[in-house]
Amino acid sequence: MICQVSENMDRKKYFRAIPKVDAVIKEQETEALCHSFGKEIVLDVIRRELEELREIVRTGTEEEIIWTLNHFRDCLPERVRDYVRPHLRRVYNGTGVVLHTNLGRAPLGEIQMQAALEIMGGYSNLEYDLEKGKRGKRSSHFSGLAEKVTGAEAAIAVNNNAAAVLLILSSLAAGKEVIVSRGELIEIGGHFRIPDVMEQSGAILRETGTTNRTRISDYEKAISPETGALLKVHTSNYKIVGFTEEASVEELAELGKKYELPVIVDLGSGVLVNLEKYGLAHEPTVQETLAKGADVVCFSGDKLLGGTQTGIIAGKRKYIERMDRHPLMRAFRLDKCSVAVLAATFTEYLDPERAQRNIPVLRMLSRPLTELREQAESMKKRLEGGEQGSHSAGVKFSEQDGGGLPEFAVEACVSQVGGGSLPGEEIPSFALTIRPGAESCETLAARLRNCQVPVIGYMKNDRFWLDMRTVLPGEVQELCRELEEILYGN
Ligand SMILES: *Cc1c(COP(=O)(O)O)cnc(C)c1O
Repeated sequence: MICQVSENMDRKKYFRAIPKVDAVIKEQETEALCHSFGKEIVLDVIRRELEELREIVRTGTEEEIIWTLNHFRDCLPERVRDYVRPHLRRVYNGTGVVLHTNLGRAPLGEIQMQAALEIMGGYSNLEYDLEKGKRGKRSSHFSGLAEKVTGAEAAIAVNNNAAAVLLILSSLAAGKEVIVSRGELIEIGGHFRIPDVMEQSGAILRETGTTNRTRISDYEKAISPETGALLKVHTSNYKIVGFTEEASVEELAELGKKYELPVIVDLGSGVLVNLEKYGLAHEPTVQETLAKGADVVCFSGDKLLGGTQTGIIAGKRKYIERMDRHPLMRAFRLDKCSVAVLAATFTEYLDPERAQRNIPVLRMLSRPLTELREQAESMKKRLEGGEQGSHSAGVKFSEQDGGGLPEFAVEACVSQVGGGSLPGEEIPSFALTIRPGAESCETLAARLRNCQVPVIGYMKNDRFWLDMRTVLPGEVQELCRELEEILYGN
């Protein structure tokens, strides 16, 4: 832009040319905006824009001032749309991290979404027993399903797994000691630390063993009349390797029985299907943990289970009932949408094959390499213009500023489960990688984050990477369209 400062510019003349709010709001185009978006919102935007206009008249060049005065009205519709655009937005996840906590963990499938949609807009029998015509229980919609799928005597759910741990400890062990291995005093992202949760619950942390080795005899030695429970925490976001030992759930269950102490297992991710069949490492399932004798098991609803944010507690009826009666239960109870999604999710698990088909997290983890490579190849072909002839805009771009065209490649990469599940587990995958033409990788990444549906990937070796595992087939078309717009400006 030409930035010449005209010494003798008459700024006053331009100040007088700035329209008044009252005048702008009465204009025909503005009235139409008010009709669609609401008068207060449009007024707010106009005031803001006029304030900016005044600033430009105060400090800008004559050219800028004239341009802004002439175009101020043209920008209004877009500014109003920006003003009401939701701050929380859908994004494309090209990171290859299936359960990305910053990107909202598990995406829902069609059936799960329909379940919430059905309930959201109207009334429901959330706490109403349709048979008896009187008050019912919120948990009645999913408890039976959860019991059937996990094999537990009873099950309840709260807002998230952090709440589940707090509720369990508060209701079963307040004022008592809870024995935990020193190797399992974990911190999960978002300030969830076992010692802090323990303190908040009123239970007293009794550490035993060492960081790398804790035997069942260490638990037994720590037991006293003050003991209220034995707690095992799945070290879900790190791995201790080398000279290690831990007590098994079976051993803990036997010890618990001997001293009449409940054995609690915080599983974290709470997987219900055997992940080995997807070529992943073994992650303890909820069913097997309960079958091995755990009295109470808790896990997240939005990690490997693949639902919305919830914490599920399954186990012996006598313990679950104590939690259900605890005042915290009222504070932690699920909202109706989560109830609907949780019930739909457990329904899918009644048949593991159906779950794999309909729960996106499981589908993504089990996508074959050939499918991922093909998806990357087809995106590459489209972006290179292979299918619809060469990109005319792209050619124009390169002619104009000699800035070179972007370059695409299909490269092998590794996806991760994420969400503090299966740490260190690397899943082979394929990525579409982009070497930008004239701009830097950082600039390209920033522009992609600014798209209508922002695109999140990662940078490596001077290229922008989009891991195909977390880009669902249904998203490919629209993602390509956005990439074309950003890379070729059409
Ligand atoms: C993730 C996790 C939690 C916290 O679960 P949220 O559902 O995120 O509250 C607690 N314990 C373990 C072992 C976890 O992996």
